[in-house]
Amino acid sequence: MVAAMLGLVQTPSGPLVQRDLPAPDASGEAIIRLEVGGICATDLEIVRGYMGFSGVLGHEWVGVVEAAPDAASAWVGRRVVGDINCPCGACPTCRANRPTHCPNRTVLGIAGRDGAFRERLALPVANLHAVPDGVAPEAAVFVEPLAAALEITEQIHVRPTDRVAVLGVGRLGQLCARVLALTGAEVVGVGRSPARLALLPRSVRAVAAADLDERGFDVVVDCTGAAAGLARATELVRPRGTIVLKTTVHEAAGVAPTPWVIDEVTLVGSRCGPFEPALRALAAGLVDPTPLITARFPLGDGVAALAAAARPEHVKVLLEP
Ligand SMILES: [Zn+2]
Ligand SMILES: [Zn+2]
Repeated sequence: MVAAMLGLVQTPSGPLVQRDLPAPDASGEAIIRLEVGGICATDLEIVRGYMGFSGVLGHEWVGVVEAAPDAASAWVGRRVVGDINCPCGACPTCRANRPTHCPNRTVLGIAGRDGAFRERLALPVANLHAVPDGVAPEAAVFVEPLAAALEITEQIHVRPTDRVAVLGVGRLGQLCARVLALTGAEVVGVGRSPARLALLPRSVRAVAAADLDERGFDVVVDCTGAAAGLARATELVRPRGTIVLKTTVHEAAGVAPTPWVIDEVTLVGSRCGPFEPALRALAAGLVDPTPLITARFPLGDGVAALAAAARPEHVKVLLEP
């Protein structure tokens, strides 16, 4: 194993590229050579202090397995993606089959575990999912956020007769809109940036936020990444409708809950989702995320890549070793 390697690290004074990272410890976990990493809004939040995380950034990635203790013949040489939650496997929550909510979990590049933006990363073999032939690395790198979009349909019944509004058509909103359109529902993507609205597929109707004069949506998904998103969703949802919260802003939303009571609105918090359906959707061509790629940077320019990803003209920024 190489002695030192390159990675993008969040430190208490901000992100920096480190060239002398120790190689990951192979004991018990798979070692994966990074092919492509994707920067998401959560990474940008972490750089601003979310979760108080220090360590290697990154949880959206695709790579090739180089070592897999006790499972080498099954995994070595395969292109993989991986679940980012690493549960303890022993607590009551894990035993109740809710591993993504394990109170003892670490989360790749987010909580208690170095992330994927390094030349080689480590993850338990149990977290790995093989990428089907025919799914290119630049599509597979979207599996984690695509799974998060699919989590909505895991949680609520979206009917083909529903009207659905997705607020925010950035990285995650674009994927949520694509997934929800697969249900046959009438999906409206609402955003401020004309460039981002133009990226929506034909299955989603693009509406500029300032022009939206419709109300009474059956389902409203908040992907704005802004505290104001929940208030806006509350205005748009119909009585007994559902608001799905994808935004993880860490300040108070500042919205009065009265309409949720009067109108009997259901609020659904929504986070990580299932990887296998995301891989199937990519393999079958049901969702094409690649038009969302607006820039690619070498891993060594990771700090510049983070700065680019924070600018509104960019949607998905990729990192390549
Ligand atoms: Zn993410
Ligand atoms: Zn557990």
